[in-house]
Amino acid sequence: MRAMVLDKPGQPLQLRDVPKPKPDRGQLLVRVSTCAVCRTDLHVVDGELPNPKLPLILGHQIVGQVEEIGGGNSDFAIGDRVGIPWLGRTDGDCTYCRSGRENLCDNARFTGYTLDGGYAEFTVADARYCFHLPDRYDDVEVAPLLCAGLIGYRSYRKTGEARRLGIYGFGNAAHLIAQIAVYEGRELYAFTRTDDKATQQAAKELGAVWAGGSDEMPPEKLDAAIIFASVGPLVPAALRALAKGGIVVCGGIHMTDIPSFPYVELWEERVITSVANLTRRDGDEFFEIAPRVPVRTDTKTFPLEEANTALDLFRAAKLSATAVLTISK
Ligand SMILES: [Zn+2]
Ligand SMILES: [Zn+2]
Repeated sequence: MRAMVLDKPGQPLQLRDVPKPKPDRGQLLVRVSTCAVCRTDLHVVDGELPNPKLPLILGHQIVGQVEEIGGGNSDFAIGDRVGIPWLGRTDGDCTYCRSGRENLCDNARFTGYTLDGGYAEFTVADARYCFHLPDRYDDVEVAPLLCAGLIGYRSYRKTGEARRLGIYGFGNAAHLIAQIAVYEGRELYAFTRTDDKATQQAAKELGAVWAGGSDEMPPEKLDAAIIFASVGPLVPAALRALAKGGIVVCGGIHMTDIPSFPYVELWEERVITSVANLTRRDGDEFFEIAPRVPVRTDTKTFPLEEANTALDLFRAAKLSATAVLTISK
């Protein structure tokens, strides 16, 4: 089968013919239809995340069709549409798994990072971690929901009942989560790069009550802020915009260093937290609410062979939509 393979971080992916994977017991062999590109893919390619499987097939927002089932009972039948997310496997047995926090599992494996992913014609996945996808979306539209949507949703849930919600870094995840926030009656404040009027306008069209640069203060103090940009200095910036008791949620897997700041900016019970990975429950909740809103995705397709082009455009911030690789019809 054809796959785009990462041999070493810092190098472009190589288009290669590799052996088609075989499903073990409990696994699905999936013919990949689409795979959305995530910022995490860039972090892996650029060597910003430790110890990826090498050589590696990237991609953890995979949509495809079940081609074969490797034995055992499964929720899926041959021919079913299936979504494969970032969380590929857990041990089910550590203190985190046993306390409903499988996203923190000590022995978790991750699709497109420590397991091969979806930049390929076929992939295998543990059926227990795969999702059935809402019918209202086609294979291209639904792909970005599998990470930007799902982990964005986990970040959003960490903000509790916050009425005034700030979002820093208005990319793919923000675009999706903003729609749910507005649907749920939150007041949305969008923070973009300084002078990025186009993105500020787009945020307002999605229902933001205010949009400005991340160096600006919002007109009202915020109850919560989510940071989707991988820019450490946004943490103290977001803290300064919070009301007492407010929370800053860092939604990314990697961030540049956070500069120091005076304790008084954290005092009065402000909280800084981060989000790691997802649980299957996050996915079930998100795929229930997304079609009701309905959350719309904005995508630009690339053939599999052009994965490097998609990654380069993403890195250079030259994509205004989520890149989705199209692999089979
Ligand atoms: Zn575990
Ligand atoms: Zn991702």
